Amino acid sequence: MHENNRVIVAGGGPAGLIATLALAQQDIPVLMLEVQPQPVDHRRATTFHPPTLEYLRQLGAVDSVIENGRITPIWQFRDRQEGLVAEFDLAAIKDQTDYPFRVQYEQMNLNKVLYRMLENYTHVDVRFGHEVLSANQDADGASVQVKISDGEQTLHGLFVVGADGSRSNVRRSLGIGFEGFTYEEKIVQYGTHFDIGAALPDVSGVAYISDPDEWCVLLHLPEYWRISFSSRDGEDDETALRDDIAEARMAAFLGQSGATVALQRSIWRIHQRVADDFRKGRIVLVGDAAHINSPMGGMGMNSGVHDAMNLADKLGQIWRSEADHSVLDRYTRQRRYVAQEDVRQQTIRNTKFLNEKDPAARRESLDAMRAVADNPQKHHTFLMNSSMLAGLRTANAMD
Ligand SMILES: Cc1cc2nc3c(=O)[nH]c(=O)nc-3n(C[C@H](O)[C@H](O)[C@H](O)COP(=O)(O)OP(=O)(O)OC[C@H]3O[C@@H](n4cnc5c(N)ncnc54)[C@H](O)[C@@H]3O)c2cc1C
Repeated sequence: MHENNRVIVAGGGPAGLIATLALAQQDIPVLMLEVQPQPVDHRRATTFHPPTLEYLRQLGAVDSVIENGRITPIWQFRDRQEGLVAEFDLAAIKDQTDYPFRVQYEQMNLNKVLYRMLENYTHVDVRFGHEVLSANQDADGASVQVKISDGEQTLHGLFVVGADGSRSNVRRSLGIGFEGFTYEEKIVQYGTHFDIGAALPDVSGVAYISDPDEWCVLLHLPEYWRISFSSRDGEDDETALRDDIAEARMAAFLGQSGATVALQRSIWRIHQRVADDFRKGRIVLVGDAAHINSPMGGMGMNSGVHDAMNLADKLGQIWRSEADHSVLDRYTRQRRYVAQEDVRQQTIRNTKFLNEKDPAARRESLDAMRAVADNPQKHHTFLMNSSMLAGLRTANAMD
């Protein structure tokens, strides 16, 4: 690989991996740099929406997600006191997509599949243990300053893709702001082998459950149930993750004891932030480096995959001299629109549905959600938005 004739991708999470694979499939040489010594195995995203499955099919990566994930056509909004509020069935949009369902599958498993696929491309160079400290550029190319075990080095290329997550050094080195806010509540996440489907027979494999004091989310993964609660005022993280506290919390929710923590326990902060710009010259941001949002709705990783596909397509056009660099401004317009006007708005609404404390506002929001689910036209529109199809199509049509 000629050192100047390549794209450098900083970060080997879902956004960086998809960008690398989509570039590699256009015969573009890529150097991907990941700070960790091996693929990261955080249990974070689990929901794959229809347009993401369509993109993964385009890359030849959808089969293992569908075969090893849990296909989930129906999902619910519930309330801890009132039970089922609204049920949505993605079969209602089967005229709009070949994948009228969500797939529940761990993001870390997708990462492993993608790392394996990249091994097939001799023009892809993946380097672990490489921390990108900053990105720079001049008229002819771009470079990154990298920390490795025995010092620092400068690596050159034609473009840099900043896919280095929410604390992105690439974004910071460009001086791009990351405006927004952080919620007071955190998410306390437990994984259990307890059969939640048997304990709550009418529950679907994805359920968002509102409560003024302790809202929660249920996700049925292939190997286990993940149950996430809002954090409690004044409870420190260590206490929230203790077995006795976790088991008492799950027993109070399920109305029976027996659920123990397996596979996973973690605590996450929830943010809503969008970068002021997604591009400076030859350096472009994708995924969490460009935007982070509440996971209520399962959209962060999905939109990072959509960013990566959009950008790889445009970099391919530049590579083949079919477009000039201004096409990267179109990338920013399209993807920043989704982050700011679509994902941010939907995930703020979803989070508010879950944690609304004012009784009158709660009643109004539960009634409004029921009305949407009961009206076929509104049900269809809601599914087009929540499955990310509508926002993506609007963005892709933008100049
Ligand atoms: C609890 C929880 C649940 C979620 N559920 C969902 C969901 O169901 N659906 C969904 O779509 N999204 C979900 N998300 C969001 C999703 O996890 C993120 O949006 C997604 O991980 C973003 O991918 P990314 O590749 O942009 O960033 P990351 O996954 O953060 O990957 C960034 C990579 O860059 C590496 N890196 C960082 N800094 C450097 C550096 N300086 N140099 C080199 N490498 C670096 C990191 O090690 C990492 O491998 C959830 C998030 C949380 C916290």
